[in-house]
Amino acid sequence: MHHWGQSLEHVQMYPQGVWTSVVLEHMEWSAEHVSLHVQHAMQPVNIQAKLVIGADGAQSWVREQTGVAVEVVPYAHHALVGCFETEHSHGGIAYQWFKKNGDIMAWLPMPHGVGVVWSHTPSEITSDRTTILNDPQRIADELSQYGHQRLGQWRYQGGLAIFPLSMQYLKSALPSRIMLMGDARQRVHPLAGQGLNLGLIEARQCVEAIQAFPLNDPGHPWISARITQKESLAQRVMPWGIDAFWRMNQPGCMPQPFQKLLGFGWRGFHQSGMLKRVVSRMISI
Ligand SMILES: Cc1cc2nc3c(=O)[nH]c(=O)nc-3n(C[C@H](O)[C@H](O)[C@H](O)COP(=O)(O)OP(=O)(O)OC[C@H]3O[C@@H](n4cnc5c(N)ncnc54)[C@H](O)[C@@H]3O)c2cc1C
Repeated sequence: MHHWGQSLEHVQMYPQGVWTSVVLEHMEWSAEHVSLHVQHAMQPVNIQAKLVIGADGAQSWVREQTGVAVEVVPYAHHALVGCFETEHSHGGIAYQWFKKNGDIMAWLPMPHGVGVVWSHTPSEITSDRTTILNDPQRIADELSQYGHQRLGQWRYQGGLAIFPLSMQYLKSALPSRIMLMGDARQRVHPLAGQGLNLGLIEARQCVEAIQAFPLNDPGHPWISARITQKESLAQRVMPWGIDAFWRMNQPGCMPQPFQKLLGFGWRGFHQSGMLKRVVSRMISI
């Protein structure tokens, strides 16, 4: 992790520092630089940069300026997310259930309880959002039952939200001197917990490519070519693999015997030790 800290030092040393309250207005680019027109402290400012990186989420303003379209593949699922205090400790264990009705429930260990990500078909439980958002303890009770109360009674902590899920990826290449990272570049179903990881991998590859380039030009086309070249196979196939996995889990997608075979395969994988460790290492940053 050493070079992350070093990179941050470089950011802080940049003469203009870090601006936090900026209104982005317009962006244009050429082969030599990118111009960003912004409002800072109520003043219009024109920033000239060798490289602009948009890490501004799924609705990326930077991406929108480039005119590069995204393909949005909607899932027939919504996510319900929230944080809950639990009666019993999770013991540092994450739980995940793949249900026959296609629901995917994840309980992620947090310092004082669990973070829940419930990918589900909008049903009676969540179609009435207002009722749920106004009575989060009701959903806490429902969720504790989901895992047969293995963590005891639950108490709502915060962060309850419900929103539709989709996969998203770029339809064409970006102009030179502009990069996108994280959800601005691609969005995946949260079932594998890889969205943030993909963004961090991209950030690391970008830093490494800039450091490997002998000239002081972080937006040089050599750098984006190097990043593409260094993309791992896991990185390239991950969004599609996650998408395929979600589809395989949906009811009616596979005949019953195949579903049983898949369940058998997963149990085998879970107990495989060595294979499980290798795959975990492949998908970790
Ligand atoms: C339900 C759910 C569960 C998930 N679970 C996991 C998990 O377990 N593990 C995992 O790795 N990933 C997970 N993810 C994915 C992960 O949350 C995202 O991939 C990650 O947050 C993307 O980070 P980002 O920085 O690219 O985008 P964001 O987190 O969206 O951050 C973008 C930031 O840019 C800011 N911004 C946008 N526009 C502007 C502007 N014009 N000016 C100033 N600021 C701006 C936004 O305010 C925001 O703070 C999950 C996602 C979902 C939906």
